[in-house]
Amino acid sequence: MPTPSSELTAADVETTLCPKCSSRLVTEYAAVPWCERCEWNLDAFTPESPLGRVDRFVARLDHNLGYKLSTSLYQQLVGKTIQRPGVSPAYFGLLAISAVVLVISVGMAALGVYLVVAWPFLMKAVGLLLIGVAILFRPQVGSVRKLLREVDPLTEAEAPALFGLIRRVAAAVGAPMPHYLAVDADFNAFAGVVGITRRRVMCLGLPYLAIRRPQERVALIGHELGHFVNGDNHRSLAAQPALIAFATAADLIDPAGMLQSLRDAARSSGFLALVIPIALLIAPLMYAVRWLLLLAHLGVNVIGARESQRAEYYADDLAAQAAGSTAATASRDITLNAQGMVTVIGARARSREGAAGWRAGVEEARAGQAERLGRLRQWSLRREASIFASHPPSGLRVRMIQAAPHRDPAVVLTEAESAAIDAELAKYEERYRREIAQSW
Ligand SMILES: [Zn+2]
Ligand SMILES: [Zn+2]
Repeated sequence: MPTPSSELTAADVETTLCPKCSSRLVTEYAAVPWCERCEWNLDAFTPESPLGRVDRFVARLDHNLGYKLSTSLYQQLVGKTIQRPGVSPAYFGLLAISAVVLVISVGMAALGVYLVVAWPFLMKAVGLLLIGVAILFRPQVGSVRKLLREVDPLTEAEAPALFGLIRRVAAAVGAPMPHYLAVDADFNAFAGVVGITRRRVMCLGLPYLAIRRPQERVALIGHELGHFVNGDNHRSLAAQPALIAFATAADLIDPAGMLQSLRDAARSSGFLALVIPIALLIAPLMYAVRWLLLLAHLGVNVIGARESQRAEYYADDLAAQAAGSTAATASRDITLNAQGMVTVIGARARSREGAAGWRAGVEEARAGQAERLGRLRQWSLRREASIFASHPPSGLRVRMIQAAPHRDPAVVLTEAESAAIDAELAKYEERYRREIAQSW
């Protein structure tokens, strides 16, 4: 079988045929060409900027493995009814590591408190140190208040149409309503469960919502609400200690810092002969432990990313259930080239246009890429390949929706209802426009 090639250039599209199926090669944005028909060379590793030898090696590994992981997860799920993510062996492994981390850190904190209370001065200091380290490993639940300070919370009285839509979509997908709904100026949206009291927060980026056609808004909200049903917020909280513990531990081990302080100690005391053997003995050990910890960090996060991709597919499935397959697909296609859309909206914002102008610009861009949609979807598999990717490549998400049985919309948003939502959010437009004009 012909091996993928990153040596090809966009110009070869004219002269080279696919070595596997003899079709003409294709390219997008002058990327290394691939075969649209059999996807030969789609997985070619093509870094966007020139990299040094080591970085290149790491990036290539990340790309190749990430590509394989995302396509294999797709293969594993396609054609089946997408289930609410359950306890896979991998997820169980994360939970087990989390449990061990929690037991160790609670034990360390308890020992620390005991030392501080019951032992003399020097041991008190050790106790404080233990408590400090234990705190580093605590699960982080976030703060609702802090989060709401960065966005604009909405009340039902000021946005009845938007709340009404969310209520209808929630009923259609069997999701609870968010406790807090907010908007901000991002080209993104999120739904999370935050704080010790576990409040559900949904935030819709105004540009992200406003540029969508009515039915695509239903899909966006269906997807975000999906994160309240698929349980991944609780799942990720339970897995969180595992996902951060190894990196936190690696940060605590600092061989370079130790060597520096040994060198200083040797210089001031003159005991160089004594210090060098200690350094030679301890430093390699510390480096080895640090590398092992970082490797473990890599491993658990690869598992975490796959679990998160699974949750995204499930949320997409609920989006299709609410908005219908056609709108769920179209809604996904918007982010195929998110950077392109951001550029378009940024330019419109700089020429003092509000949400209606952003929408017009995005519609133009979408018309421009309608012909190339199939290739752009394929290209996302290459561009978004990484073992750390928390979301599946956009193209695979589209494929998953299309491979499922076709669904008609359960919730229909009319043009008039959609316009009512725009009117409710209009008061944020000018402030966000200025923000976007500056930074996009
Ligand atoms: Zn081919
Ligand atoms: Zn999502």
